[in-house]
Amino acid sequence: MPEKIKTIGIVGAGTMGNGIAHSAARSGFRVILCDIEPKAIERAKETISRNLDREVARDKLSAAEKARALTQISTSNRLRDLEVADFVIEAVIENLDSKLKILNSLDTISRPEVVLASNTSSISITKLAAATKKPANVIGMHFMNPVPVMNLVEVVRGLATSDQTHSTTEELAKSLGKTPVTVNDFPGFVSNRVLMPMINEAIFCVMEGVGSAESIDSIMKLGMNHPMGPLSLADLIGLDVCLYTMEVLHNGLGDSKYRPCPLLRKMVDAGQLGRKSGQGFFKYSRN
Ligand code: NAD
Repeated sequence: MPEKIKTIGIVGAGTMGNGIAHSAARSGFRVILCDIEPKAIERAKETISRNLDREVARDKLSAAEKARALTQISTSNRLRDLEVADFVIEAVIENLDSKLKILNSLDTISRPEVVLASNTSSISITKLAAATKKPANVIGMHFMNPVPVMNLVEVVRGLATSDQTHSTTEELAKSLGKTPVTVNDFPGFVSNRVLMPMINEAIFCVMEGVGSAESIDSIMKLGMNHPMGPLSLADLIGLDVCLYTMEVLHNGLGDSKYRPCPLLRKMVDAGQLGRKSGQGFFKYSRN
Protein backbone atom coordinates (compact mmCIF):
# COMPACT_ATOMS: atom_id res chain seq x y z
CA MET A 1 0.00 0.00 0.00
CA PRO A 2 1.52 3.42 -0.92
CA GLU A 3 2.58 4.85 2.43
CA LYS A 4 0.70 8.13 2.25
CA ILE A 5 -2.51 6.79 0.76
CA LYS A 6 -5.08 5.71 3.33
CA THR A 7 -8.29 7.18 1.91
CA ILE A 8 -9.38 6.98 -1.73
CA GLY A 9 -12.07 9.33 -3.01
CA ILE A 10 -14.18 8.02 -5.88
CA VAL A 11 -16.49 10.27 -7.89
CA GLY A 12 -19.33 8.39 -9.59
CA ALA A 13 -20.96 5.32 -7.98
CA GLY A 14 -22.06 3.64 -11.23
CA THR A 15 -20.79 0.40 -12.77
CA MET A 16 -17.12 1.37 -12.57
CA GLY A 17 -17.20 3.52 -9.41
CA ASN A 18 -18.79 0.79 -7.31
CA GLY A 19 -16.33 -1.79 -8.69
CA ILE A 20 -13.36 0.45 -7.82
CA ALA A 21 -14.82 1.07 -4.34
CA HIS A 22 -15.22 -2.70 -3.85
CA SER A 23 -11.59 -3.42 -4.84
CA ALA A 24 -10.23 -0.55 -2.74
CA ALA A 25 -12.18 -1.47 0.42
CA ARG A 26 -11.28 -5.12 -0.05
CA SER A 27 -7.60 -4.08 -0.18
CA GLY A 28 -7.85 -2.23 3.12
CA PHE A 29 -8.27 1.38 1.95
CA ARG A 30 -10.87 3.72 3.38
CA VAL A 31 -13.20 4.82 0.58
CA ILE A 32 -15.42 7.86 0.16
CA LEU A 33 -17.81 7.12 -2.70
CA CYS A 34 -19.44 10.26 -4.06
CA ASP A 35 -22.36 10.58 -6.49
CA ILE A 36 -24.91 13.31 -7.16
CA GLU A 37 -27.71 10.72 -7.48
CA PRO A 38 -28.85 9.31 -4.09
CA LYS A 39 -30.31 6.30 -5.93
CA ALA A 40 -26.94 5.56 -7.53
CA ILE A 41 -25.35 5.46 -4.06
CA GLU A 42 -28.02 3.06 -2.76
CA ARG A 43 -27.62 0.82 -5.83
CA ALA A 44 -23.82 0.88 -5.43
CA LYS A 45 -24.04 -0.21 -1.76
CA GLU A 46 -26.34 -3.11 -2.71
CA THR A 47 -24.12 -4.14 -5.62
CA ILE A 48 -20.95 -4.06 -3.54
CA SER A 49 -22.56 -6.13 -0.77
CA ARG A 50 -23.91 -8.67 -3.31
CA ASN A 51 -20.55 -8.96 -5.09
CA LEU A 52 -18.74 -9.41 -1.77
CA ASP A 53 -21.27 -12.16 -0.90
CA ARG A 54 -20.25 -13.94 -4.10
CA GLU A 55 -16.62 -13.90 -2.96
CA VAL A 56 -17.66 -15.27 0.44
CA ALA A 57 -19.63 -18.06 -1.29
CA ARG A 58 -16.50 -18.94 -3.31
CA ASP A 59 -14.33 -18.98 -0.16
CA LYS A 60 -12.24 -16.07 -1.40
CA LEU A 61 -13.28 -13.96 1.59
CA SER A 62 -14.61 -14.63 5.10
CA ALA A 63 -17.89 -13.14 6.35
CA ALA A 64 -15.86 -11.04 8.83
CA GLU A 65 -13.65 -9.69 6.00
CA LYS A 66 -16.77 -8.81 4.03
CA ALA A 67 -18.18 -6.90 7.02
CA ARG A 68 -14.84 -5.10 7.48
CA ALA A 69 -14.69 -4.13 3.80
CA LEU A 70 -18.19 -2.63 4.00
CA THR A 71 -17.28 -0.53 7.04
CA GLN A 72 -14.37 0.94 5.04
CA ILE A 73 -16.80 2.60 2.62
CA SER A 74 -18.57 5.86 3.40
CA THR A 75 -20.73 7.72 0.89
CA SER A 76 -21.50 11.31 0.09
CA ASN A 77 -23.30 13.49 -2.43
CA ARG A 78 -20.93 16.44 -1.92
CA LEU A 79 -17.62 16.63 -3.76
CA ARG A 80 -16.29 18.78 -0.90
CA ASP A 81 -16.23 15.70 1.36
CA LEU A 82 -13.33 14.40 -0.76
CA GLU A 83 -11.03 17.04 0.79
CA VAL A 84 -9.67 14.37 3.15
CA ALA A 85 -8.92 11.89 0.32
CA ASP A 86 -5.26 11.07 -0.37
CA PHE A 87 -5.95 9.97 -3.97
CA VAL A 88 -9.06 10.66 -6.08
CA ILE A 89 -10.46 8.58 -8.95
CA GLU A 90 -13.10 10.16 -11.17
CA ALA A 91 -15.55 7.64 -12.70
CA VAL A 92 -18.58 9.69 -13.79
CA ILE A 93 -20.38 9.39 -17.14
CA GLU A 94 -18.24 9.65 -20.30
CA ASN A 95 -18.95 13.32 -20.95
CA LEU A 96 -16.18 15.87 -21.41
CA ASP A 97 -18.03 18.79 -19.76
CA SER A 98 -18.96 16.76 -16.66
CA LYS A 99 -15.40 15.53 -16.23
CA LEU A 100 -13.89 18.99 -16.79
CA LYS A 101 -16.19 20.51 -14.15
CA ILE A 102 -15.37 17.79 -11.61
CA LEU A 103 -11.61 18.03 -12.15
CA ASN A 104 -11.82 21.77 -11.88
CA SER A 105 -13.61 21.52 -8.51
CA LEU A 106 -11.33 18.75 -7.22
CA ASP A 107 -8.39 20.97 -8.08
CA THR A 108 -9.44 23.41 -5.36
CA ILE A 109 -10.86 20.84 -2.91
CA SER A 110 -7.89 18.42 -2.82
CA ARG A 111 -4.55 19.01 -1.12
CA PRO A 112 -1.84 20.12 -3.58
CA GLU A 113 -0.04 16.75 -3.66
CA VAL A 114 -3.15 14.61 -4.27
CA VAL A 115 -3.26 12.69 -7.57
CA LEU A 116 -6.44 13.14 -9.62
CA ALA A 117 -7.01 10.05 -11.78
CA SER A 118 -9.69 9.61 -14.42
CA ASN A 119 -11.22 6.28 -15.42
CA THR A 120 -12.22 7.66 -18.84
CA SER A 121 -12.14 5.14 -21.67
CA SER A 122 -11.64 7.67 -24.44
CA ILE A 123 -11.30 11.31 -23.35
CA SER A 124 -7.85 12.89 -23.62
CA ILE A 125 -6.05 12.92 -20.25
CA THR A 126 -3.99 15.86 -21.50
CA LYS A 127 -7.19 17.85 -22.11
CA LEU A 128 -8.63 16.95 -18.68
CA ALA A 129 -5.33 17.89 -17.02
CA ALA A 130 -5.30 21.27 -18.76
CA ALA A 131 -8.56 22.13 -16.90
CA THR A 132 -6.64 22.07 -13.61
CA LYS A 133 -3.87 24.17 -12.09
CA LYS A 134 -1.89 20.99 -11.39
CA PRO A 135 -1.74 19.10 -14.72
CA ALA A 136 1.31 17.20 -13.42
CA ASN A 137 -1.01 15.48 -10.86
CA VAL A 138 -3.53 14.24 -13.45
CA ILE A 139 -3.37 10.74 -14.93
CA GLY A 140 -5.59 8.10 -16.54
CA MET A 141 -6.44 5.01 -14.51
CA HIS A 142 -8.48 2.92 -16.92
CA PHE A 143 -9.97 0.00 -14.98
CA MET A 144 -11.69 -2.83 -16.85
CA ASN A 145 -15.25 -4.02 -16.24
CA PRO A 146 -16.06 -5.84 -13.94
CA VAL A 147 -13.41 -4.18 -11.79
CA PRO A 148 -13.26 -6.75 -8.94
CA VAL A 149 -12.38 -9.56 -11.37
CA MET A 150 -10.35 -7.90 -14.13
CA ASN A 151 -6.61 -7.64 -13.59
CA LEU A 152 -5.57 -4.81 -15.87
CA VAL A 153 -5.34 -1.12 -15.13
CA GLU A 154 -4.27 0.79 -18.25
CA VAL A 155 -2.35 3.73 -16.78
CA VAL A 156 -2.40 6.69 -19.18
CA ARG A 157 0.20 9.44 -18.97
CA GLY A 158 -0.92 12.84 -20.21
CA LEU A 159 1.61 15.24 -21.73
CA ALA A 160 2.20 16.95 -18.35
CA THR A 161 1.85 13.93 -15.99
CA SER A 162 4.83 13.87 -13.61
CA ASP A 163 7.00 10.82 -12.83
CA GLN A 164 5.87 11.12 -9.19
CA THR A 165 2.19 10.97 -10.16
CA HIS A 166 2.91 8.02 -12.42
CA SER A 167 4.80 6.00 -9.82
CA THR A 168 2.19 6.70 -7.10
CA THR A 169 -0.56 5.52 -9.48
CA GLU A 170 1.26 2.35 -10.48
CA GLU A 171 1.94 1.56 -6.83
CA LEU A 172 -1.70 2.13 -5.92
CA ALA A 173 -2.92 -0.12 -8.77
CA LYS A 174 -0.64 -2.89 -7.45
CA SER A 175 -2.01 -2.41 -3.92
CA LEU A 176 -5.48 -2.93 -5.35
CA GLY A 177 -4.31 -6.33 -6.61
CA LYS A 178 -4.17 -5.12 -10.24
CA THR A 179 -1.46 -5.12 -12.87
CA PRO A 180 -0.76 -1.61 -14.17
CA VAL A 181 0.41 -1.23 -17.77
CA THR A 182 1.43 2.28 -18.77
CA VAL A 183 0.79 3.90 -22.14
CA ASN A 184 0.83 7.44 -23.48
CA ASP A 185 -2.22 9.59 -24.11
CA PHE A 186 -3.55 9.05 -27.64
CA PRO A 187 -7.16 8.52 -28.80
CA GLY A 188 -8.45 5.15 -27.55
CA PHE A 189 -5.18 4.61 -25.60
CA VAL A 190 -4.09 1.02 -26.47
CA SER A 191 -7.01 -1.09 -25.22
CA ASN A 192 -9.72 0.51 -27.33
CA ARG A 193 -7.47 1.33 -30.28
CA VAL A 194 -6.75 -2.36 -30.77
CA LEU A 195 -10.05 -3.87 -29.58
CA MET A 196 -12.59 -1.58 -31.26
CA PRO A 197 -11.28 -1.81 -34.86
CA MET A 198 -11.41 -5.62 -34.50
CA ILE A 199 -15.07 -5.40 -33.41
CA ASN A 200 -15.78 -2.88 -36.20
CA GLU A 201 -14.18 -5.22 -38.78
CA ALA A 202 -16.30 -8.13 -37.52
CA ILE A 203 -19.38 -5.91 -38.10
CA PHE A 204 -18.17 -5.16 -41.68
CA CYS A 205 -17.97 -8.96 -42.17
CA VAL A 206 -21.65 -9.26 -41.14
CA MET A 207 -22.67 -6.33 -43.36
CA GLU A 208 -20.83 -7.70 -46.41
CA GLY A 209 -22.24 -11.20 -45.88
CA VAL A 210 -18.80 -12.76 -45.34
CA GLY A 211 -20.25 -14.81 -42.49
CA SER A 212 -23.10 -14.91 -40.00
CA ALA A 213 -22.68 -13.39 -36.52
CA GLU A 214 -22.54 -16.94 -35.09
CA SER A 215 -19.81 -18.08 -37.52
CA ILE A 216 -17.68 -14.94 -37.02
CA ASP A 217 -17.78 -15.38 -33.23
CA SER A 218 -17.03 -19.13 -33.54
CA ILE A 219 -13.99 -18.46 -35.75
CA MET A 220 -12.51 -15.99 -33.27
CA LYS A 221 -13.23 -18.23 -30.26
CA LEU A 222 -12.07 -21.54 -31.70
CA GLY A 223 -9.31 -20.26 -33.98
CA MET A 224 -7.82 -17.43 -31.92
CA ASN A 225 -8.70 -18.70 -28.44
CA HIS A 226 -10.63 -15.52 -27.61
CA PRO A 227 -12.88 -16.24 -24.60
CA MET A 228 -15.73 -14.40 -26.31
CA GLY A 229 -16.47 -13.60 -29.97
CA PRO A 230 -16.17 -9.93 -31.07
CA LEU A 231 -19.91 -9.59 -31.77
CA SER A 232 -20.97 -11.01 -28.39
CA LEU A 233 -18.42 -8.67 -26.85
CA ALA A 234 -19.88 -5.71 -28.79
CA ASP A 235 -23.34 -6.64 -27.45
CA LEU A 236 -21.93 -6.77 -23.92
CA ILE A 237 -20.13 -3.40 -24.18
CA GLY A 238 -23.14 -1.75 -25.87
CA LEU A 239 -23.24 -0.87 -29.57
CA ASP A 240 -23.69 2.83 -28.75
CA VAL A 241 -20.44 2.76 -26.75
CA CYS A 242 -18.67 0.94 -29.62
CA LEU A 243 -19.89 3.56 -32.12
CA TYR A 244 -18.84 6.42 -29.84
CA THR A 245 -15.37 4.92 -29.40
CA MET A 246 -14.92 4.39 -33.16
CA GLU A 247 -15.88 8.05 -33.66
CA VAL A 248 -13.25 9.10 -31.11
CA LEU A 249 -10.62 7.08 -33.03
CA HIS A 250 -11.82 8.35 -36.44
CA ASN A 251 -11.93 12.02 -35.38
CA GLY A 252 -8.85 11.90 -33.18
CA LEU A 253 -6.53 10.06 -35.55
CA GLY A 254 -8.11 11.24 -38.82
CA ASP A 255 -7.46 7.95 -40.63
CA SER A 256 -10.23 6.36 -42.73
CA LYS A 257 -9.28 2.93 -41.39
CA TYR A 258 -11.23 3.87 -38.23
CA ARG A 259 -14.46 4.64 -40.16
CA PRO A 260 -17.37 3.23 -38.09
CA CYS A 261 -19.13 0.45 -39.99
CA PRO A 262 -22.46 1.76 -41.46
CA LEU A 263 -24.25 -1.32 -40.05
CA LEU A 264 -23.06 -0.36 -36.53
CA ARG A 265 -24.51 3.14 -37.01
CA LYS A 266 -27.77 1.72 -38.38
CA MET A 267 -28.22 -0.67 -35.44
CA VAL A 268 -27.61 2.15 -32.94
CA ASP A 269 -30.15 4.33 -34.82
CA ALA A 270 -32.64 1.45 -34.54
CA GLY A 271 -32.08 1.20 -30.77
CA GLN A 272 -30.44 -2.23 -31.10
CA LEU A 273 -27.75 -1.61 -28.50
CA GLY A 274 -26.90 -5.18 -27.48
CA ARG A 275 -27.62 -6.80 -24.13
CA LYS A 276 -28.98 -3.65 -22.50
CA SER A 277 -31.76 -3.30 -25.12
CA GLY A 278 -32.37 -7.05 -25.51
CA GLN A 279 -31.24 -7.07 -29.15
CA GLY A 280 -27.87 -6.61 -30.82
CA PHE A 281 -26.09 -9.15 -33.00
CA PHE A 282 -27.82 -11.71 -30.78
CA LYS A 283 -31.13 -11.70 -28.90
CA TYR A 284 -31.26 -11.51 -25.07
CA SER A 285 -34.02 -12.18 -22.62
CA ARG A 286 -34.38 -9.12 -20.39
CA ASN A 287 -35.62 -10.99 -17.30
P1 NAD B 1 -22.39 4.79 -15.10
O1 NAD B 1 -23.35 5.54 -15.95
O2 NAD B 1 -22.70 3.41 -14.66
O3 NAD B 1 -22.06 5.66 -13.77
C1 NAD B 1 -21.76 7.02 -13.81
C2 NAD B 1 -22.17 7.63 -12.47
O4 NAD B 1 -21.68 8.97 -12.42
C3 NAD B 1 -23.70 7.70 -12.26
O5 NAD B 1 -24.04 7.05 -11.04
C4 NAD B 1 -23.98 9.21 -12.17
O6 NAD B 1 -25.02 9.52 -11.25
C5 NAD B 1 -22.63 9.73 -11.70
N1 NAD B 1 -22.41 11.16 -11.97
C6 NAD B 1 -22.70 11.84 -13.09
N2 NAD B 1 -22.33 13.14 -12.93
C7 NAD B 1 -21.80 13.25 -11.68
C8 NAD B 1 -21.26 14.33 -10.93
N3 NAD B 1 -21.19 15.55 -11.44
N4 NAD B 1 -20.79 14.08 -9.67
C9 NAD B 1 -20.89 12.84 -9.13
N5 NAD B 1 -21.40 11.79 -9.81
C10 NAD B 1 -21.86 11.99 -11.06
O7 NAD B 1 -21.00 4.84 -15.91
P2 NAD B 1 -19.79 3.76 -15.87
O8 NAD B 1 -20.07 2.69 -16.86
O9 NAD B 1 -19.47 3.45 -14.47
O10 NAD B 1 -18.60 4.64 -16.50
C11 NAD B 1 -17.89 5.59 -15.74
C12 NAD B 1 -16.60 5.94 -16.45
O11 NAD B 1 -15.81 4.75 -16.62
C13 NAD B 1 -16.78 6.51 -17.86
O12 NAD B 1 -15.79 7.48 -18.08
C14 NAD B 1 -16.55 5.30 -18.77
O13 NAD B 1 -16.09 5.65 -20.06
C15 NAD B 1 -15.48 4.56 -17.99
N6 NAD B 1 -15.38 3.11 -18.25
C16 NAD B 1 -16.51 2.35 -18.34
C17 NAD B 1 -16.37 0.97 -18.57
C18 NAD B 1 -17.61 0.09 -18.64
O14 NAD B 1 -17.50 -1.05 -19.13
N7 NAD B 1 -18.77 0.53 -18.15
C19 NAD B 1 -15.10 0.40 -18.68
C20 NAD B 1 -13.96 1.20 -18.54
C21 NAD B 1 -14.12 2.57 -18.32
